[in-house]
Amino acid sequence: MKSVHCVRVGSLKDPNPETCGKVAVLDIPEDPVGEEDVKIKVAYCSICGSDPHNIEGIFGNVPPFGLGHEVSGIIAELGKKATRKGLKVGDRVAGNFLRFCGTCYYCRNGQEQFCEHADESNRPGFSEYLVWHESQVFKLPDEVSLLQGCLLEPTSVIVRFIDKISPKLGARILVSGGGPIGLLAVQALKMYGATALTLSEPIAARRELALKFGADFTIDPTSQDLYAEAMRITDGLGYDAVLEVSGSRAAAPLMPRITAKGGTLCYSAMFPRDFDMPLNLYDYCYRNELTITGTYISPYAFPRAVQLLSRMQLDAFTSAVFPIDDAEKAFAEHMSGKHVKVIIKCNDIEG
Ligand SMILES: [Zn+2]
Ligand SMILES: [Zn+2]
Repeated sequence: MKSVHCVRVGSLKDPNPETCGKVAVLDIPEDPVGEEDVKIKVAYCSICGSDPHNIEGIFGNVPPFGLGHEVSGIIAELGKKATRKGLKVGDRVAGNFLRFCGTCYYCRNGQEQFCEHADESNRPGFSEYLVWHESQVFKLPDEVSLLQGCLLEPTSVIVRFIDKISPKLGARILVSGGGPIGLLAVQALKMYGATALTLSEPIAARRELALKFGADFTIDPTSQDLYAEAMRITDGLGYDAVLEVSGSRAAAPLMPRITAKGGTLCYSAMFPRDFDMPLNLYDYCYRNELTITGTYISPYAFPRAVQLLSRMQLDAFTSAVFPIDDAEKAFAEHMSGKHVKVIIKCNDIEG
């Protein structure tokens, strides 16, 4: 079957064709279906911001390795014992690319994000077929299309943010970074009752989208003074919650300054591995009592992401779709920043 792999580790932005990161469609064998497994005929898989980081070698994977985890599709085959969730062949599904062991200390302690045996060897999502454990698979609601369904995983990330910052109703909130995750966060925080809801983002088209999704204010951090604007919008108080999802080295140190006294600051981007940041503990932790936290993956978030998905405005996320044979082009389009999200169509499936 066809499957998109990283065949050379390197930056996709490297102009040298000999050394740049490279993806290719390989022909790989289909995985066997175990007793508790579900074989999915993949309809769509969207490119995640983490996929290029993976190609750049951030996770230390050795090429060729499979890519993609934001998947939707239909069930092609069920293992004999994959019956506990009532899944049926032909069901429209999406799910969690990670399989948690359910047995280790962390899984038994309500912290499956730290699972010592989390298995993601069952990637790649950019494939014609995928075999997942039953526990990873969720049926899509009837009103959610397969094209929208591949956004279940990014939506689970938003559920996790809100779990982590648990804002009070009416809290003033700023989202730093208007990529797909930031734009989904704006939508969800609006539903959640955020006020003075602000997106800080350099790309004008994305700021426009944020306003459409319910943001009250936007800031262009490249042409405006982020701190001054934040203070103007919040009457000098700062935001009760700040969510940093841009991963920008420039944005990160500003975030404590615009967080209100007693507020929560959540760094949820995949920052460069070698990025350290000074933090004045007297100001921010002693005097201002900030709660500074982060998120890694999305434990316990998928069932609620399924509930939420049909309420999200997803048209802006589903307009750039490329067939699996054009995977290289799809990645180039993703890197261009022209589209909020780029999706690869892995099979022709109605619905
Ligand atoms: Zn992702
Ligand atoms: Zn575990």
